[in-house]
Amino acid sequence: MIDNIVLLGSTGSIGTQTLDVCEKHNIRPLALSGNSNVKLLEQQARKFKPDTVCIADGTLYGDLKQRLADTDVTVTAGRDALCELAARECDTVVNAIVGFAGLYPTVAALTAGRTLALANKESLVAGGDLVTGLAREKGKIIPIDSEHSAIFQCLMGNEDNKIKKILLTVSGGPFYGYTYDRLKKVTVEDALRHPTWSMGRKITIDSATLMNKGLELIEAVRLFDVTPRQIEVVVHRQSILHSAVEYEDGSVIGQMGVADMRIPIQFALTYPKRYETPTKGLSLFEVGTLTFEQADDSVFLCLAAAKRAVAAGGTACAAINGANEAATGLFLEGKLPFYRIGELVRDTLDNVGYDSTTTLDTIEAADTAAREYVITHA
Ligand code: NDP
Ligand code: MG
Repeated sequence: MIDNIVLLGSTGSIGTQTLDVCEKHNIRPLALSGNSNVKLLEQQARKFKPDTVCIADGTLYGDLKQRLADTDVTVTAGRDALCELAARECDTVVNAIVGFAGLYPTVAALTAGRTLALANKESLVAGGDLVTGLAREKGKIIPIDSEHSAIFQCLMGNEDNKIKKILLTVSGGPFYGYTYDRLKKVTVEDALRHPTWSMGRKITIDSATLMNKGLELIEAVRLFDVTPRQIEVVVHRQSILHSAVEYEDGSVIGQMGVADMRIPIQFALTYPKRYETPTKGLSLFEVGTLTFEQADDSVFLCLAAAKRAVAAGGTACAAINGANEAATGLFLEGKLPFYRIGELVRDTLDNVGYDSTTTLDTIEAADTAAREYVITHA
């Protein structure tokens, strides 16, 4: 069992569930970070007693510093301070930040040779070869995302066996079975109502557009070194089979469990060992039926765009990720209809040029150009 972690994004959905796991197993968070929620960050600092807390939004530094004035906790702020924490000596760095902003600490952690428990899929999607190269040469990534944790577990003990296919499961989200026309009428409230998982706002919308599955397809290509064609997206409404791997002999090995992120979060921290989690067990009798269907990427345009972007390579995935973040942000602010998110992600890929090399500069340029495209065409 590890002794300590650095937890980035501690105030979010994955962050707070990571702290549940820490509490259960006496894992010490050496450092915590948030972006806007100073109140919760203060509470977490008082309860878990990290030596450092970082607020990414530098304008909130004074507020947080004052709140913690009577404690020994060091308060830092801004992106460089966040990256310093990511590079810090510890057993595991957990990146539970949402969005492209997570790229910088991912790069910092891997460059410093850290073991990175990664929830922030956007950094792997946008970072492409830059991130996979650092993971190969310097640090190590253990996935937190439930599907990728499942695949990672299905690969254990099979290091010398070739993967024939990965079955990447998807709940289908709240608009499963919708026609394109019906998507035109959905509201923010409808989109925030996910049938099986309780998550942060951005990933909840990503799950409704199926961009989340597109990002996860790219994540799987990057993590497990397979081609996009080797990945089959399978709609599985019950969210019980978290993904599976088919081997050359036709055996399909899957991982099942209740839909509770504390299982994959904990496994990323205790790998390869397994311990009790604060979750209820799986009763297949209660579940009763497991169903499997094809995903419709003629309705869910983000999924189709993600398949094309990963095949294009270079910074194309950074472009669709940036476009999605910008479009989703506008949708959540009530400034863009839901169905336009997919159209804008698709159109960005068709109209914004991308680079075949992935450096931090080219990735940032693709991200910025994509966001600008979305803002001017929304
Ligand atoms: P939340 O929105 O709940 O939390 C995001 C965290 O990131 C918060 O701590 C937030 O701080 C912080 N943050 C936001 N913006 C910035 C920024 N610009 N710089 C630094 N920190 C920032 O998201 P989730 O926990 O749902 O998701 C986190 C990541 O995990 C995402 O990449 C998501 O795709 C992935 N994931 C999530 C799952 C889930 O069940 N939630 C499942 C699988 C993957 P604050 O709250 O203080 O503003
Ligand atoms: Mg997932």
